[in-house]
Amino acid sequence: QHAAFRTDLSVLLDQVGTGKESLSFMKRRIRRLAQQWATAANRLDTKLEQRWRDQKKILVHVGFLTEESGDVFSPKVLKGGPLGEMVQWADILTALHVLGHNLKISMSVKELQGFLGVPPGRGSCPLTGPLPFDLIYTDYHGMQQMKQHMGLSLKKHKCHIRVIDTFGTEPAYNHEEYATLHGYRTNWGYWNLNARQYMTMFPHTPDNSFMGFVSEELNETEKRSIQQNKVNNMAVVYGKEASMWKQGKEGFLQILHRYMEVHGTVYYETQRPPEVPAFVKNHGLLPQHELQQLLRKAKLFIGFGFPYEGPAPLEAIANGCIFLQPKFHPPHSSLNHEFFRGKPTSREVSSQHPYAEQYIGRPHVMTVDYNNSLEFDSAIREIMRTKVEPYLPYEYTCEGMLERVHAYIQHQDFCAPEIVGPLFVPLPNSTALGWASNVTAPAAWPPLTSLRLLISQEGQSCVEACQSAGFICEPAHFRFINNKEALLEVQCEVIDSEINHILPAFSVVRRECGLQREPLLFSCAGHSPKYRRLCPCRDFRRGQVALCRDCL
Ligand code: UDP
Repeated sequence: QHAAFRTDLSVLLDQVGTGKESLSFMKRRIRRLAQQWATAANRLDTKLEQRWRDQKKILVHVGFLTEESGDVFSPKVLKGGPLGEMVQWADILTALHVLGHNLKISMSVKELQGFLGVPPGRGSCPLTGPLPFDLIYTDYHGMQQMKQHMGLSLKKHKCHIRVIDTFGTEPAYNHEEYATLHGYRTNWGYWNLNARQYMTMFPHTPDNSFMGFVSEELNETEKRSIQQNKVNNMAVVYGKEASMWKQGKEGFLQILHRYMEVHGTVYYETQRPPEVPAFVKNHGLLPQHELQQLLRKAKLFIGFGFPYEGPAPLEAIANGCIFLQPKFHPPHSSLNHEFFRGKPTSREVSSQHPYAEQYIGRPHVMTVDYNNSLEFDSAIREIMRTKVEPYLPYEYTCEGMLERVHAYIQHQDFCAPEIVGPLFVPLPNSTALGWASNVTAPAAWPPLTSLRLLISQEGQSCVEACQSAGFICEPAHFRFINNKEALLEVQCEVIDSEINHILPAFSVVRRECGLQREPLLFSCAGHSPKYRRLCPCRDFRRGQVALCRDCL
């Protein structure tokens, strides 16, 4: 059946259910953005020119909101607890509904069992028949629950699963045996999925798929009125929980206060939290639309280093604020920071919000060393002088999210057997591939026309190598470059095939080349000091990094 766009969200709102603060938060958000989604649906419908889209049967099982996982989030919704996940789930549900798919939503193990047709009870009969869904979106908690209640059949059906995973999972952590043998084992990873089945909040490592969320978009009239009503000396502090204001923040708060009126939205019960200085005008935790209003007036949205990589800076920038944030030197990662410890990634987080730093940048984002009070001071003064327009990257608009999720649903297939790449002669330093004349490209997505083969510097990952050439690493293309032909120009004396997440690569000194033997370990993120890596890069659309030019 064809999936027809839906602009009416009432069925979805009924499906989400009631009885918890987290659900009310999500429903308020869905209602507030309904008009934007409808407009976006109409635009994308036109853009896709009535193209056929398969309607999929989709189960969304929100593991972290189930009682069985302890649901620590719901009670904190009104108390400054994390809201990013709920923002994202609300938007995923809306996108799937608007795209016209056949949606079931589960927020408890009982509902999960009901939808899957598994008899109730722990560890009882596994699912025996076919899976009644084409796709299951869940999270790490949900994976655990499905393992418990579906038993071995989970393995059989896992290609249908998508894991919503805020910070991302790198291939080395995802491969159970490899992770265990090489020190990449964490409490979360090792599901042996294709790493692109993990879907992240921001485009972190391209090894995962970028799911994202949306932020409110302004029309021209709103943009103009915002610019007219900006208060040049008004700052809002990023941090809704008092603990985010603790320790060593007084120094730069004082500097900030020298120039600007400082506002906060810190949750409190009865009195001002002691961490928040008296000169700060604290509004208490605000409903999303009121925060939006505050951001429309403010000139500066300022981060203190925590929370990491949340939605709020995008909302601030979309409302015409400049986002000022600390640079992390050295970068934070699972090796040196408590928050990232045990997370299935070695990603180095270079600032509070690397997406804002790398994808948006000046004049909307300033990333400075907060320990250097001169630098901090001059940043504040520069911000007061700078005029900026509200800005929202296309990939965070409703239309951008619909476009991306549409493309994933229609094109990503992790159930099909691996097609082995054809023989071809790639030219490593050119932007085009020379094909052996008698071979045709198989139906790949992203299409092979987007492939650009590059060789990294020693110690450099493919994430960096592709990026520095203006491309993005595309893990789906590894299978086409994991061959002797791709190594043609590097003159190896030996070619081995091994299980190691930095392969395909070659060692310059030893003139040894290595190909990858385990497709699950193809990794954009991998790097090693003595190795230059073979990197499958691809082009991407401006403002929609998940898609290549010919991807739609
Ligand atoms: N937020 C809110 N009221 C406030 C402060 C924040 O509703 O007073 C919302 C904000 O609109 C954003 C969400 O909280 O969409 C999550 O923000 P944050 O970036 O702090 O990420 P988190 O750490 O909560 O995941």
